[in-house]
Amino acid sequence: MKYRFPEEFVNRVREANDLAEIASEYMTLKKSGDRYLGLCPFHREDTPSFNISADKQLYHCFGCGAGGNVITFIMNIENLSFVDAVKMLADRCRMPIPEQGLQKGVSERYKTMGEVLKANVAAARYYAAALKTNKKAMQYLTGRGISEKIIRQFGLGYAPADGNSLTRHLAGSGFGLKILEKAGLVSPGKSGGTYERFRDRVMFPIIDVRGRVIGFGGRMLGDGKGAKYLNSPETPLFHKGSTLYGLNWAKKHIVNGELIVVEGYMDVISLHQHGIKNAVASLGTAFTQRQGETLKRYCTNVIVAYDSDAAGRAAALRGMDILQGMGCSVRILQLPEGKDPDDYVRHHGKEGFEELVSRAMPLVDYKIALLEKRYDLNERGGRMEYLKEAAGILAKLESELERAEYIKMVAHKAEVYEATLREEVLRLAKKEGRRGRNISGKNRHNNKNREFGYSVKTANVEAEKTLLVLMLKDKKLRRRLAKSLKSEDFTDRLHSELFEILGREGGAGEVKDADLVNAFDGQQDIDRVVTILQQGLPVSEEGIDKVISDCIHTITIYKIRKRSNFLKGEIERLALRGMERTGDEEEQYRGYCEEFMDIQRKLKGR
Ligand SMILES: [Zn+2]
Repeated sequence: MKYRFPEEFVNRVREANDLAEIASEYMTLKKSGDRYLGLCPFHREDTPSFNISADKQLYHCFGCGAGGNVITFIMNIENLSFVDAVKMLADRCRMPIPEQGLQKGVSERYKTMGEVLKANVAAARYYAAALKTNKKAMQYLTGRGISEKIIRQFGLGYAPADGNSLTRHLAGSGFGLKILEKAGLVSPGKSGGTYERFRDRVMFPIIDVRGRVIGFGGRMLGDGKGAKYLNSPETPLFHKGSTLYGLNWAKKHIVNGELIVVEGYMDVISLHQHGIKNAVASLGTAFTQRQGETLKRYCTNVIVAYDSDAAGRAAALRGMDILQGMGCSVRILQLPEGKDPDDYVRHHGKEGFEELVSRAMPLVDYKIALLEKRYDLNERGGRMEYLKEAAGILAKLESELERAEYIKMVAHKAEVYEATLREEVLRLAKKEGRRGRNISGKNRHNNKNREFGYSVKTANVEAEKTLLVLMLKDKKLRRRLAKSLKSEDFTDRLHSELFEILGREGGAGEVKDADLVNAFDGQQDIDRVVTILQQGLPVSEEGIDKVISDCIHTITIYKIRKRSNFLKGEIERLALRGMERTGDEEEQYRGYCEEFMDIQRKLKGR
């Protein structure tokens, strides 16, 4: 236990933050009884094995073994240190932080994040107020059918053209240039000094799943110089590669596990305005691995609705492959040439857009359709190229059934024998399979298991675990075992430490599950503690005595064998010294021999 915060404070923070409530900000959870179930945010899976016990305030994944309490959950999902995670949870329920903890524990990085967040909120307020008095910006939004209500909900604003009014305004509220620079609101100028990043732009605050303003996007008004759309740079809070605009709203409107991915801010807002509320923007067509991981926590079906010309670009297709590779079903919505979702929904309304969604093409069909457009199938050369690329696409399919269907279709179109195409696809699939296996070894938890080797089971370690489970389930047993065992009897370090806690006051002390988790620091240990806590009784009530005596027997035998091995080694060593043995050594030697014989007799007698 290495807390920089008083333990009592950490416990209060933990109790004030409900695990299921916090976790549901990051993922979709289903309630069943007093448990919640969802897709594990810590490993790739298609069927939920991540579960939360509301009653114990612990989570556990049966798939990858991840487990812990609300603090470890935040540590892992936000990638924070223990102290930063406690600070974040304390802030969340407005608990004052003990001074000594603040000074020593909380990292610079976390403090900066807090300051940047405050500056962002102040800037968002300023931009929102500025929008009200700027006709041009207001016209841009109302001209696109955006209502006052939506403007307020999305916190839309306007960054004035003069390039210094935000800085002046925020300076009045105590925000120095340094923090505004860290927030990406101002940038250092070429000739010294600073300038405001967003000028004469309609502003879109970027809000994360927890409702924090982490950055901004700005759309240029008129046809001035510079990029049409501009985002905040990377800041301690804003990481473009893992952010999805609008997810904070969309996550509440997911039906049938379906989310629509669009390119831009206005697409999300326009769709929302027309009652399609499950859309998020990828902020560009190059959908990243990290965005995919974020998305996968909330949905299993993705409809990609990029501009018709953008959807076929290599970067966009790669992004869709990422999503499909994560086990999402990906379909591509086809917009008429030159249209984006914003245009389309404005002209055709909710029903019109939903009609397109219902006709969205599975990713494979879409890719093959692209090939058909690219190559002339009436020419032999075109047909060959088409076949080669199509075979590559089909080789990546996981379902044999699906593959067979597509082989039939493609072979028919290119006028070749199905068998010929099948052979080529299978050859490529074999190659793909080899590569696939190498990649799958990257799984975080799998790796961990292998590295530390704790998945290797030996009988005595299993027996130790069983005894601990019994001590956890039954107070009477806890007292009984606390008397008959010592922490040295446990060969596994973690088991020994757990026994020490459970055995306090002769096993009569009050021990809560969450306290046990908190007694350990590393995620590795915490995962193991939670696994033990999750385990049911290994036998029925009647069989318990037999299990206990078997376990104790296993542990005792192990201890004796270990001692016997030690003695054997020592005896050999001393025997080799022969006549050179000193008087002390001579005595030791005899003692070891006697003890060794004694042990051998005992082992045989059993
Ligand atoms: Zn997992």
